[in-house]
Amino acid sequence: MKISSRLPEISTSIFSVMSKMALEHHALNLSQGFPDFSVSGKLIDLIYQKMKEGHNQYAPMPGLPALRKTISEVIFKTYQREINAETEITITAGGTEAIFSSIAALIKPGDEVLLFDPSYDSYDPAIRLNGGLPVHLNLLPPHFAIDWDEVKKKITSHTRMIMVNTPHNPAGSVLCSADLKILQELAEEHNLIVLSDEVYERIIFDNQIHESVLKYPDLANRSIAIFSFGKTFHATGWKVGYAVAPEVLSNEIRKAHQFITFSVNTPVQMALADFMADPENYLHLCHFYQQKRDFFLYQIKGTSLKPLPCHGSYFQLLSYEGVSQKNDMDMAQWMTKEMKLAPIPVSAFYKDQTDPKLLRFCFAKNEDTLQKAGEILKRI
Ligand code: GLN
Repeated sequence: MKISSRLPEISTSIFSVMSKMALEHHALNLSQGFPDFSVSGKLIDLIYQKMKEGHNQYAPMPGLPALRKTISEVIFKTYQREINAETEITITAGGTEAIFSSIAALIKPGDEVLLFDPSYDSYDPAIRLNGGLPVHLNLLPPHFAIDWDEVKKKITSHTRMIMVNTPHNPAGSVLCSADLKILQELAEEHNLIVLSDEVYERIIFDNQIHESVLKYPDLANRSIAIFSFGKTFHATGWKVGYAVAPEVLSNEIRKAHQFITFSVNTPVQMALADFMADPENYLHLCHFYQQKRDFFLYQIKGTSLKPLPCHGSYFQLLSYEGVSQKNDMDMAQWMTKEMKLAPIPVSAFYKDQTDPKLLRFCFAKNEDTLQKAGEILKRI
């Protein structure tokens, strides 16, 4: 049968490709970003309890009221912003669905969306599947900062949305308050919607503070902030996240969300509502992951691979420029098949296939795993 693909040049996501390759070659998998340690037993018990109590039918379309209430309280404590739990929070099937539903609801054919490469692999296809025109700008290593002069040059009368991501996957960079202020000015001047992917909000290091769009009232009034329980509670496989946006935007997001997933699984939402109410369950995450980052950096000391600065997320970039002239896909494949350690090639995050000779390693792993990875990297 002949079909005309809407995404002709897209193949399987790099995360699935590398995880599959790691499995096939019995390689240590530091490619796809997920923890190899367990979820809190308390949280698992809560889910079991909610299931046994009979909470197994559809949740309300925008999310369970109890969970949205807890989220609004946590946002107030964290970002000092009052969020209406009824009208401004939508629970989604992970951050990815929140991003897709937001774009599906708000981007019309011909609208331009600014985004920064390296960018997460779902952004560009989500824009194009909805008729939007992605406009890619490059962040430059090693600091991966936004060149705001370049942004100003790329804004046109068709620009509808700008997407930002802090802490950044895969770069590990974070936006600072000056960035948010410029973003606010530009968004107001050009009437842009800001889609802010903040799924690593709690994984930030070196005493840096996460600059959420929610902290800037005029920015928050035109932003969608995306968060993820998978990242904060070590449960990426549950696929539960949420979008926080003013009522006018949330109303539209919900129109798309109700036909994409309708609602998110009930017992997990109920358990999360209880679990998230205790700050002990999330406040120490930055120390927990900073230790892991430092442990990983210690393991790779003395190797020929050069770490780039990482201030947030659970990804560390390593440059192999001094080691090999291979392109990064070949290098990642070679490392997986021959050295039995799987990373992600960073060119996969660039529209123009820029290859800065960088590999991404996920350090959301037990020390034992990180130590083994270090031993392999020392042999390169
Ligand atoms: N967010 C994860 C990463 O960056 C991947 C999730 C997925 O496989 N879609 O590795």
